Amino acid sequence: MPSYNVWTVGCQMNMSDSERLGAGMTTLGLDKTEAPEDADVVVLNTCVVRQSAEDTATGMLGKLKKVKDENPDRMIVVMGCMVGPNDTDLRRRFPQVDIWARPQDFNPILETVAFRHGIENADLDGCLANLVPTDPKVATFVPITHGCDKFCTFCIIPYRRGRETSRVLPELVDEAKMLVQRGVKEITLLGQNVDSYGHDLDDRKDLADLLEAIQEVDGIERIRFLTSHPNDMSTRIIQSIADLPKVCETVNLPFQAGDDTVLANMRRGYTRSQFLDKIEEIRVILGDDVTLTTDVIVGFPGEDEVQFDNTIDIVERVRFDKVHSAAYSERPGTVASRKLPDTVSQAEKKRRHNHLDAVQCAIQTEKHKTLLGTETDILLEGRKRGRLFGRNRNDKIVYIDDAHDNCAVRVGETITVNVTEASPWSLVGQPVAN
Ligand code: SF4
Repeated sequence: MPSYNVWTVGCQMNMSDSERLGAGMTTLGLDKTEAPEDADVVVLNTCVVRQSAEDTATGMLGKLKKVKDENPDRMIVVMGCMVGPNDTDLRRRFPQVDIWARPQDFNPILETVAFRHGIENADLDGCLANLVPTDPKVATFVPITHGCDKFCTFCIIPYRRGRETSRVLPELVDEAKMLVQRGVKEITLLGQNVDSYGHDLDDRKDLADLLEAIQEVDGIERIRFLTSHPNDMSTRIIQSIADLPKVCETVNLPFQAGDDTVLANMRRGYTRSQFLDKIEEIRVILGDDVTLTTDVIVGFPGEDEVQFDNTIDIVERVRFDKVHSAAYSERPGTVASRKLPDTVSQAEKKRRHNHLDAVQCAIQTEKHKTLLGTETDILLEGRKRGRLFGRNRNDKIVYIDDAHDNCAVRVGETITVNVTEASPWSLVGQPVAN
C-alpha cells in the first residue's frame, strides 16, 4: 500500500484538520509514515498567520522539490491557510505541487489519491463523513466551528477559512462518543471564535448548551474550549464553566492590545475597560484560581511607546497564566496591510516583544512557585522530551519526576502528584501513593 505523511504547522485547528485528513487516508488504506521525504503522498498543512510560519512551509516545499525531482510519482499536496481563492501565483512559484487545497477541503485530495493509486470502490462519501481521528491522543481536539466573521484588520483567517459556520450539536455529541470508544478522555472544543458557537444554527444552541450536552457523554472526563473572543464570552457560558464539573476552569481570552486607539485600529470591537470588566466577571463567577491565558500583538502599525505601556499594564494587572505574544508582521490581503503603514521598526518590535515576554516570565515564575509542595491531579498524555507528562485542570504541564518515571502509571490515567519543581513554563511532580 502507498504511504502518506501529513506535515503540519500552525494552530490547533490545523493540527485537528491534519488528524482528520489522516483518518481519511487510513480509511483509503494508506499507511502512515513518519518522515515527509519517505511518503508517497505528502500533505503540507500550512499557516500564514505569521511570516515565520509561512517561511517554514516554503522551506519545506524547497526540500520536497528535490524529492519530487528524484521521484516524479511522489504526490505533493499543499492544504491550509497558504491557499487562497486564487492559487495562480502559487502554482507558478511551486510547480512541484500536485494539488492546492483550501483549509478543510479534504475531498479533492482524497479523490485524487484514490484515483492515482488505483484504489477502487473507495467509499469517498463514507470516508468523508467519518473523518474522526482513528488513533486519537487521550486529550484531543474537536472543531465545532469553521471560519470567522470578525475580520480583525491584521488577520488573514476570515479570507482563508471563510465565514463562520457551526457544526450541529447532535453530530458533535456523536463524535465525542466515538472518540471515547477510541480512548479519548479529554476533549478541547475548537473554533477561531469558539464562544460564538451556534449563532448561525436554526435552533440557536450556544456553547453553554454544547458543554452541557458533552458533559453527559460517559467516558469524557475533562472538557476545554478555545479560542474565545471577549465580545462573545457571555455570562451564560462563564456560569456553565462553574456549573459543569467536567469543564475545566481555564479561559483563553485574547486581548491583543491594551490601548483603545490600537484596539480600534485592529477592529477588535471592545475597549480596554470592557476587556478588564470581562476578566473581573470571570473571576467573580469562577474564583481567583481560574486559569487565564491570552494572545497579544506588539508593534501594531502606529503603536507608540505609551500605547505599548498600556498593553504591559494589562498584563501586569490581570497576571495571566500564559501569554502568547507575537510581533506584528504585515499579512498581504488584510485591511491592515492595505491601510495601515507598518511604522514600528523591526528592532523596536523585537525590543517590545522581549520586554513583554520578560514581564510575563516573571509573573509565571511567581505563580508557579506558589504551587510547590501542593498536590494536583494530572491526566497523563504521553512523553515529551523523554519524560512522562500530563496536565492538570488548570492546563499546567506537569512532568513526572525522573525518579518515578518508571513507576506503574500509564498514559490515560489520572494521578495525583506532589509538585516538587517549578519553572515558568512547566512543573515537575512526584506521584502520590494512593
Ligand atoms: S477573531 Fe480576529 S484574530 Fe481571531 S480569527 Fe477572527 S479575525 Fe482572526
